[in-house]
Amino acid sequence: MLLELFAPSRCLSCRGRGPLPWCAGCAERVRHLPEGCRRCAAPRGAAHACWPPDAPIHGTVAAFDYRGPVAAAVVTAKVAGARAGWPALARALGERMREVEVDADVVTWVTTPAARVRARGVDHAQVLATEVARVVDLPCVALLEAWTGGADRDRYRARRELPGTHVLLVDDVVTTGATAWRAADCLRRAGAGRVELAVLARAGTHPLGAVSRSVARGVRHQP
Ligand SMILES: [Zn+2]
Ligand SMILES: [Zn+2]
Repeated sequence: MLLELFAPSRCLSCRGRGPLPWCAGCAERVRHLPEGCRRCAAPRGAAHACWPPDAPIHGTVAAFDYRGPVAAAVVTAKVAGARAGWPALARALGERMREVEVDADVVTWVTTPAARVRARGVDHAQVLATEVARVVDLPCVALLEAWTGGADRDRYRARRELPGTHVLLVDDVVTTGATAWRAADCLRRAGAGRVELAVLARAGTHPLGAVSRSVARGVRHQP
């Protein structure tokens, strides 16, 4: 712990000396995603098949394009043990959220199963959500529980009923959208009104692949 406190910080991308999350050289290659598609956050002007009208997520904000130093940083912080990098990544997402008008009552996050949190030493999405909540001045509340067993559709459970509550859901990366869809769908089934998604990074321009589309259909066809 002391070593962690006094060691010089290392860029989460190239691991060279520099401020978190990126050194100056890597920061230059970071691709910001200002004002993408309001619904799925595809980069502006990108031809894309947007999320369908009945998607459980009403809008998406992404701070960065998931490539280069951003992808390297997430991998380093998530699986290479550099968990001290999450607060810096959270501040980067928080900066993006200052530009956004948020219509929500509460902030929550896509929970990681407890066993994985213990192994990694951090629920990284909670770190992101805590900073986002601070920036948008809303309470940050654990609304979801994650489970490793059971069918995919049962991966998340709502901790409480949420009648008419508008939720800002936070995660690190949106790729196909399947994970966020499952989490959002769980919130909606607990009664949530609008669910908006805020992520550090968005991978590609594909909104929701065929696989996750069928997953989402399965989720919504549950009673
Ligand atoms: Zn670097
Ligand atoms: Zn879109």
